Amino acid sequence: MGIELFEKALPILDTIEKNDFEAYFVGGSVRDYIMDRAVHDIDITTSATPDEIEDMFDHTIPIGREHGTVNVVYQGDNYEVTTFRAESDYVDHRRPSEVYFVRDLYKDVQRRDFTINAIAMDKNYKLYDYFEGQDDINHRLIRTVGDAQERFSEDALRILRGLRFQSQLDFIIDKMTYIAMQEQIEDIEHLSIERIVVELKKLISGQNVGESYSNLLTLGLFTHVPFFKDIDMNQVKIETPIRFEMWLAIIITKCQPQTSLSKLKISNKEKSDIQLYSKIMTVLPQINNKDDLKLCVYDYGKTNIQEVLNIQSILHANSLATASPLIINEQTINEIANQLPIQTRKDMNINGGDLLNHFQKKSGPWLKELLRKVEGAVVIGKVQNTKDEILKWVDDNVKI
Ligand code: ATP
Ligand code: MG
Repeated sequence: MGIELFEKALPILDTIEKNDFEAYFVGGSVRDYIMDRAVHDIDITTSATPDEIEDMFDHTIPIGREHGTVNVVYQGDNYEVTTFRAESDYVDHRRPSEVYFVRDLYKDVQRRDFTINAIAMDKNYKLYDYFEGQDDINHRLIRTVGDAQERFSEDALRILRGLRFQSQLDFIIDKMTYIAMQEQIEDIEHLSIERIVVELKKLISGQNVGESYSNLLTLGLFTHVPFFKDIDMNQVKIETPIRFEMWLAIIITKCQPQTSLSKLKISNKEKSDIQLYSKIMTVLPQINNKDDLKLCVYDYGKTNIQEVLNIQSILHANSLATASPLIINEQTINEIANQLPIQTRKDMNINGGDLLNHFQKKSGPWLKELLRKVEGAVVIGKVQNTKDEILKWVDDNVKI
């Protein structure tokens, strides 16, 4: 699996070598290739400096130049080419602000986090495995390169990355590595929330999340992370992979925290999705007739509702009320969605102006309420979606 991606990138290694520098594939792509997992992005490590790489290739993007990374664009694909580097002076248990370039592959892989991520591979698919990474892959073991305590104290994100790989790869954490995690866990406080969230997203949706999530709880990791530290995370049980947004929706629905999602510095879209899912989780169990369900499908959309239905067992495990499968299931939701008379408010054949005209009354909160009533009546089929019918229905049924 994935060999095609390496084949496509071989000419890059070739070019670098023709210029008398070394170049290797490295990191996650080599690990996944050895494990026969799907390879996604390919990272290349080289003895050439960014200047030297830029001289060799026509099309480059200086994406992370200060860390030694240049993107080489080759046949329409982007490859991250990073100069061999060593890191110095870790300040505050975070990534060092200073890196320096070296000409030696060994030094480069030595600064990498785990043995399974520190294997390099040349253009002939020969592996350079200085830290028994292949053995660890065979034993399904996550083990730091070098002394675990030292490596975690240099950069505490590695603790979370280790747990993330445990979840994604279904690996075991080496004993000394785990002990060092326990010792250094407080240093998580020094990390930026953005870096933490990147790893949590991968961890929570990984195949072995059950074990790695329970490690997160045992290690007390959440007590050192903004937002989560204000919540009793022991209440939230996750045993099967789940999307990040759904996980947060469960947290919000169950724990009703006083803290704000903004602390996670996630996008507005992610925030609104979380709130939407949480709303659906709350509303679905309260539905006991078809009209309510029609309104729910109209308001929240069948795909979003279906996504919440897909995790009913996780909601149940978290003692959240679940939807009645007799009334609410994939089939009923599809049927209702297909038969909705309108898709959005814009499809209504009446607007605020029409109602103002009809009632000859000044605008106010009553108008918004009335529009919502009309919308509901149209959605559940109480009234036909024509201006005349709607006005007649309003006269007969609504007190203004
Ligand atoms: P994925 O398959 O999720 O991309 P990956 O192992 O490629 O996993 P990346 O975050 O893409 O992870 O990092 C690429 C490589 O850079 C890693 O395999 C590892 O060798 C090294 N690396 C990344 N982050 C760190 C870190 N905090 N400390 C040391 N090495 C790191
Ligand atoms: Mg990667």
